[in-house]
Amino acid sequence: MTGFLALAALAPPALLPPNAPKLVLLISIDQGRADYIDRFSNLYLPPKKGGTLGGFRWLSETGVRYTDAHHHHLPTATGPGHSILMTGSVPALNGIVGNDWWDRTAGKPHYVTDDDTVQTVGANDRSGLMSARPLKVTTVGDELRMATNDRSKVVGISFKDRAAILMAGHSADEVVWYDYDTGSFVTSTYFAKSLPTWTEEFNRSRVVDGFLGKSWAPSLPESSYVNARNAPHETGPKMFSHAFGTEKNRKYYANVVTSGDGQNLIFDLTEKAIDADGLGRHDVPDVLVLNLATNDYVGHAWGPNSPEVMDLWAITDKRLSRLFNKLDKAVPGGIDNVAIVVTADHGIAPIPADAQKDRIDSNRLNGGDVVKAVDAALGAKYGAGKWVLGGLYEQNLYLDRTLIAGKGLKAEEVERTAADAAATVPGIYSAYTRSQILEGRLPNSSWSEWVTNGMNPLYGGDVMVLEAPNQVYTGATGTSHGSAWAYDTHVPIMTHWGGQKAQKVARQVYTHDIASTLCTLLGIEYPSGNVGRPLFESLPAK
Ligand SMILES: [Zn+2]
Repeated sequence: MTGFLALAALAPPALLPPNAPKLVLLISIDQGRADYIDRFSNLYLPPKKGGTLGGFRWLSETGVRYTDAHHHHLPTATGPGHSILMTGSVPALNGIVGNDWWDRTAGKPHYVTDDDTVQTVGANDRSGLMSARPLKVTTVGDELRMATNDRSKVVGISFKDRAAILMAGHSADEVVWYDYDTGSFVTSTYFAKSLPTWTEEFNRSRVVDGFLGKSWAPSLPESSYVNARNAPHETGPKMFSHAFGTEKNRKYYANVVTSGDGQNLIFDLTEKAIDADGLGRHDVPDVLVLNLATNDYVGHAWGPNSPEVMDLWAITDKRLSRLFNKLDKAVPGGIDNVAIVVTADHGIAPIPADAQKDRIDSNRLNGGDVVKAVDAALGAKYGAGKWVLGGLYEQNLYLDRTLIAGKGLKAEEVERTAADAAATVPGIYSAYTRSQILEGRLPNSSWSEWVTNGMNPLYGGDVMVLEAPNQVYTGATGTSHGSAWAYDTHVPIMTHWGGQKAQKVARQVYTHDIASTLCTLLGIEYPSGNVGRPLFESLPAK
């Protein structure tokens, strides 16, 4: 008996590699375009000053930075983008074909993480009717939880439900997102019956109400914005001021999130989670996934060349530095025991009116025009009817298969007619049919992979409609993303952990390569839908 106990005491606490990190920290900067790392570098902290670690420049100079990293699927939207980072998969396999799609079974539109079978925790509204169920594959967190008998903690934090959920995965302990009606963070019964204590405390503090009557103003001197230009709808100086509002309503709570103050809030919440959960201080590794949604909101509103975006990235840099220094002290063995990945879910197009100033052919698109053209063409050829289901969901256009079958038509032929009609709409580059994509009959170019990776046989549309370069689906002001053009696909991938050789890597890599890299480091199985290959330059030599 004594002998057995002695053996048990000697047994290692887990089967993971001895040099596995204590914490995986994946930060997705929403709408983080690759060029911002160099373009705004004069606004960032030095790599290291005294004993203090910097932000982007510290990561860049002491870790491995991939300068030619891309998303490799359509659409380049928040849902699909985040569904890739911790699964190593693509929409064709993982089921996340957009932020919205047409649900053929339910006969209605589906928002990516909607789930009516669960309840909101933390507010009395629908903001928490969300889950990871639409994600058909596992995440790094799921695989780690299975490898450690659920002893690893997996935590997801974002203002955006879809970002936190799709990165954290199915088995995560704590996944929280923002309720825009109340300014509180919520979760769903899919993940837990009650909010994490750190979220409850944050909600109780009502710190989010402290900005009433105030404005977001620049944190940098005017000389910092020499390379910035105002959004075309903005007049006046580059020293902006954006009022949050004076009443506690949805608009106010959204305005706070769309500011440097919002960025500080999400980092404050993250720091609370690290302390309360003791992340990185357990005998098995933990996972923390953080999405910075503020960067997306600010970029949509004022564009990639605006002083607002520059200011926000300077704030992001400062908060990354603070987070890294905190972890350096909190995690046994310091920052080298944290596997840090900084990347993004997609990029962003310039504001069309801004691009036009430089004589670039750039216009605003409206998905309704595509729907109208397709309905008209199908009506003319096959008879009147409501051929298109719902609207255009990013690139996905869904046709009424019951109507097609009822008229005795061949699906592929109707798809072709629809695709040809869609391609005649100004601003559309091309349109491909579901049959053409699934049977591999696309043009023989590497670009076609973006289309194939976006077409899911169960959830995808009948036609994929691709916008031409610098043609952007967006409202009267601001800009957007979603295409396979470089401004939307090109994102940073920066890694940092112990045993790495610091370097800049210029070979083309994909965001779906991140997950298998982390799994290799952790010594666990790849997520079920993985198609990526480990970023070998990032892995320790032994
Ligand atoms: Zn966005």
